[in-house]
Amino acid sequence: MNTGVPRRAAFLDRDGTINLEVDYLSDPAELCLIPGSAAAIAQLNRADWCVVVVTNQSGIARGKLTEVDLTAIHRRLDELLAAEGAHIDAYYHCPHHPEFGASGACTCRKPEPGLFLRAAEELSLDLSRSWTIGDSLRDLEAGVRAGTGGVLVRTGKSAALPSESPTSYSAADLAAAVASLV
Ligand SMILES: [Mg+2]
Ligand SMILES: [Zn+2]
Repeated sequence: MNTGVPRRAAFLDRDGTINLEVDYLSDPAELCLIPGSAAAIAQLNRADWCVVVVTNQSGIARGKLTEVDLTAIHRRLDELLAAEGAHIDAYYHCPHHPEFGASGACTCRKPEPGLFLRAAEELSLDLSRSWTIGDSLRDLEAGVRAGTGGVLVRTGKSAALPSESPTSYSAADLAAAVASLV
């Protein structure tokens, strides 16, 4: 039901947040959910949050995977989530090389907030009531620049960060992060 009221969203990083971190994941068979991720996403679905995946995929610019591979990975993720009654509402990715972003040509690679702003426009989201959840400070910076709150999850890359990192909130994993918000 679309009531015309902007929805709140959960902007989720993918690798290291929903699924286990793999360097340049290019094969759907390598996709493995972090325990509790699917149940957490189902909880967001039931609470009528719009669940948006925002992912940096510089592997595309680096020739490590194609857009077709990426679509196959996301269909596989959809299957794994559906088996646990969960779904992603929309996927947004940056295919660019970091150097392309550094030149100012890309406004979508996190920590740039471009994908968040585009999603908000296309999906009618209320950024001020939305949250970004990711395993890197870069994810949170992008979300905060777009006007959302941020929760760092201690899975994936952030497992190596010092316990006190410059972020307002952190949680053990996606399940704990969602439990604190919904
Ligand atoms: Mg990540
Ligand atoms: Zn980009």
